[in-house]
Amino acid sequence: SAVVHWFKSDLRLHDNRALYAAYETAKEHQVPLIGLYIASPQDWTAHSTSPARVDFTLRTLQRLQQDLGELDIPLYMETQEKRTAIPDRVVELCQQWEARHLYANIEYEVDELRREAKIVRACADKGINFALSHDTCVVTPGQLETGTGNQYAVYTPWYRSWLRFLKENPDYLEVSEEPGSNPGKARQDFKDLFDCKIPAMPKTHAVSDEERKRFETMYPAGEHEAMQRLDKFLEHKVRQYEEQRSTLPGEHTSVLSPYFACGALSARTAVTTAKRINKGHLDRYDQGFMTWISEVAWRDFYKHVLAHWPFICMNKCFKPEHTNIEWEYDKEIFQAWCDGKTGFPIVDAAMRQLRHCAWMHNRTRMVVSSFLTKDLMLDWRRGERYFMENLIDGDFASNHGGWGFGSSTGVDPQPYFRIFNPLRQSERFDPEGEYIRHWLPELRDVSGKAIHEPYARGAAAIAQKNGYPKPIVDHAESRNRALERFKSALQR
Ligand code: FAD
Repeated sequence: SAVVHWFKSDLRLHDNRALYAAYETAKEHQVPLIGLYIASPQDWTAHSTSPARVDFTLRTLQRLQQDLGELDIPLYMETQEKRTAIPDRVVELCQQWEARHLYANIEYEVDELRREAKIVRACADKGINFALSHDTCVVTPGQLETGTGNQYAVYTPWYRSWLRFLKENPDYLEVSEEPGSNPGKARQDFKDLFDCKIPAMPKTHAVSDEERKRFETMYPAGEHEAMQRLDKFLEHKVRQYEEQRSTLPGEHTSVLSPYFACGALSARTAVTTAKRINKGHLDRYDQGFMTWISEVAWRDFYKHVLAHWPFICMNKCFKPEHTNIEWEYDKEIFQAWCDGKTGFPIVDAAMRQLRHCAWMHNRTRMVVSSFLTKDLMLDWRRGERYFMENLIDGDFASNHGGWGFGSSTGVDPQPYFRIFNPLRQSERFDPEGEYIRHWLPELRDVSGKAIHEPYARGAAAIAQKNGYPKPIVDHAESRNRALERFKSALQR
């Protein structure tokens, strides 16, 4: 007999609710605890998961296996080619191990919910007790309601309600313990499960050796690294976060998003740790801490939106009236955006950062999403997918939310008439042009303010010589086009 914890996007021991519940049950029955992970390349393809994120997941699994091994807990891993086979396979493995209890944390995306529903039925048929925990959000979706009993669609009142809820329910901030050593004799009963190989990187998601080394250096895997980053950020940077978070050169944010996405760090641990250092406050005392906590809360907000309005998983706009917007589908223009060759230095620098780091600064995520959808008038879904295909922190809810904001078609979007001006953004958040020069070698020799707009500010010769393109559109003209398209869609 045994107890199984099925790992998905919760690849950690620390503060993992379902894992700890599984451990407690194993302890109660004095039976072995087994960790399970099933890789699904078909799922990765269907969800446009980036190779960088797959690589990061596999590296994180390796650390997880070591950490679990130290507690005599095996991590059994395998690859299932067909994702529809996963529910039956999970149940089959439980039967093979004679496990009467299966634990997992809930994922709120539609495909995942459907899969879990199948497992609930299959487990019921076989007499296996399948327990699901809410773990990924600090406040569980469904807990916060407007005065009329609805889900909030606007962040600010939602955030006030989030803060109020946590003050009234401090247990939601309690971090769960880590499991201790395996209560059962796993090394004896399940010896073979201990030398399980990490699933192979599928060909569809291959990274080159050079990329793997680069990502390994930039984002070492595992929860210990995540905790170290969190501690370092809270010690050295968070107090300047309010003033510095939009500054593009340098590193002023936590870069913890890859760790949140694969679950090497829980949002609860992040918020609780920040609160403790901020003298026990979520929304008082130091402004840097307060702002950072409110950013981590955005992650919860978008997951609440997803859990309440699951249709957003189906390529749909949040509001039906936005379906009428007339989009462009020019492949070459889209490719210029992807390649960082639009002739708008701030946009191009950001797109090159994405390609090199599989990550982009939040400010430029807003700039490039606005640029794609307003200046180029390209369908936001193309940009949303490209981000997922390339981000190491690709997370459906946050990405969909970010694209909804940037394109003014989402829940709580910026008003459509507020269109980012790439030049102003560049001058404001990269005043000396350091970020641009770093990512655009073609413009490294351009000095002074010309860096923001080389062709219009006397640096055309250098730009041309180095093959940097002229602006692909005229911002003022495309701004008018976007305003007209939005206006006519909303009037229909
Ligand atoms: P910090 O500034 O240190 O913030 C801490 C944490 O708070 C982040 O790690 C993240 O978990 C959360 N957070 C901060 N801002 C946001 C936000 N606006 N929405 C949701 N969560 C937030 N974030 C993702 O994790 N995955 C995505 O796929 C993703 N796609 C985005 C697409 C667009 C178009 C936009 C505008 C934003 C997107 N974001 C996404 C949100 C945000 O840009 C990143 O979370 C942030 O840049 C990560 O850097 P950091 O860890 O240094 O953040």
